[in-house]
Amino acid sequence: MKDIRTELTAAPQIVTGYVGGRFESDTGEAIDVTDPATGTAIGLLRESDADQVDRAVAAARAAFPEWSRTTVAERQKALMAIHDAILENADELARLETLNTGIPLTQTSAMHIPRAAQNFRFFAEFINQDSGEVFTQEPGYMSFVTHEPLGVCALIGPWNMPLGLTAMKMAGALAFGNTCVVKPSEITPLTLARLFAILDARGVLPRGVANLVNGRGHVTGSALSGHPDIDMVSFTGGTETGARILTALAPGIKLGAMELGGKSPSIVFADADLERAIDGAMLGSFMNNGQMYLAGSRIFVQRAVAEPFIEAFVRRTRALRVGDPFDPVTEVGPMINEAQLQRVERFVASGLSEGAELVAGGARHDGPSGGFYVQPTAMIAGSNALAVCQQEIFAPFATLQVFDDEEEVIARANDSVFGLVGYVWTQDLERALRLSRALATGTVLVNTPILRDLRTGFGGVRQSGLGREGAKGSRAMFTEMKSTIVALERPRLPRIGLGDAA
Ligand code: NAD
Repeated sequence: MKDIRTELTAAPQIVTGYVGGRFESDTGEAIDVTDPATGTAIGLLRESDADQVDRAVAAARAAFPEWSRTTVAERQKALMAIHDAILENADELARLETLNTGIPLTQTSAMHIPRAAQNFRFFAEFINQDSGEVFTQEPGYMSFVTHEPLGVCALIGPWNMPLGLTAMKMAGALAFGNTCVVKPSEITPLTLARLFAILDARGVLPRGVANLVNGRGHVTGSALSGHPDIDMVSFTGGTETGARILTALAPGIKLGAMELGGKSPSIVFADADLERAIDGAMLGSFMNNGQMYLAGSRIFVQRAVAEPFIEAFVRRTRALRVGDPFDPVTEVGPMINEAQLQRVERFVASGLSEGAELVAGGARHDGPSGGFYVQPTAMIAGSNALAVCQQEIFAPFATLQVFDDEEEVIARANDSVFGLVGYVWTQDLERALRLSRALATGTVLVNTPILRDLRTGFGGVRQSGLGREGAKGSRAMFTEMKSTIVALERPRLPRIGLGDAA
């Protein structure tokens, strides 16, 4: 582990903006980039100030006319070149992602990086098959709907899956003929910076088609989302930040696509395959160090199986291997930073003060190397009204509630300001389909943990978001729908303005 870290940090990672096909290093404040497993600085980010953001938007604007007129084959070639570049550098990207996020290498290498590449392949294939609509019912008219690129897209990403989630936005924006300015989280800028360097070296994209700015939300992020010459923002992050960005977009009546927080219920019925439901609830709560937007960590168990489920869940939560994210046996790595650790401590205290029972974890974990480690935590809650059941904790922290019947659990599951995913564990097909209708979430997953299918849209209802990512959802996000109506037979028109001649 030490060797991997030493090798990766031998030269500090310097992160700068990439504007109009050139890395710029001379602007903005210097901000440390930290390894959450050790708490030490591993790189330096030169923050993009408003001037650099302005140049990046101008470069994207200048590149737009030509890029929006590229053929499908040209765009497919570029998207597949990015796909290949990611896969050919997958080991390095996975290690960098793990170094900067603390997510176990087993997960970044098996899931996050391949998924980042897959996004580009998916949209390369999608645009070839994509179609508009034609309406021919009226003999005198032909009406058709096309999808036009929007222009300059601002793509703002979070720290919990930096490359994968932002790659999804880049792939969609570029595929539909837009140019973009990408802003990763200032906490985890390393993999996107590396990807831009790889693409630059390979000359994959024309200048200005994809630009990179880096920095904090209130500096770089707000300069970008409030820039008068962007056409939309695609944002993934916290609900409060999303609301701030929507406010910035409102005066220009611009589109904001929002992938926001969640507090997703996992509902385990007595007729479920219990072993699989426990496996699924464990993954749903603790993958990605629990820092997961689609975590299914608000668990409801039907009374008849509550005892064996909770016994096994608690036993396995206590047995989770917390450790260095580069260690192949590690199941849960460190939190992203001290603030996240304190957040867990605050929620444990809040749960206890509201009467929840702490059954696993609840405290800092020594960890192997002085990083931001926490014990995987579980609390039994008597009511869904508790803050631990209502607020997104974004940590390896599950709550367990017992329920009696279907109607009751639907009401309790829907008692949330969020609505990202609903997980249902049952072998009763009719019940599964009833729940699919009844849950107020953008996605329902039946008998499976965390899964995203790019063909279906992913996104949230209520305060979990606006818009859907994937296939037609991304098309709706990254294009403007245009209707064209053509008269074919010179239909008779009322003639006005002829005065007495009429
Ligand atoms: P965050 O909202 O703090 O930051 C996200 C991004 O927004 C960062 O790049 C940040 O610099 C930027 N930002 C902050 N203030 C800004 C402003 N005023 N204007 C423009 N940009 C600004 O979120 P985070 O802490 O990085 O990520 C965690 C949150 O993201 C959680 O709530 C999680 O649920 C959510 N999330 C949602 C999804 C999803 O698909 N729904 C996916 C991942 C994460």
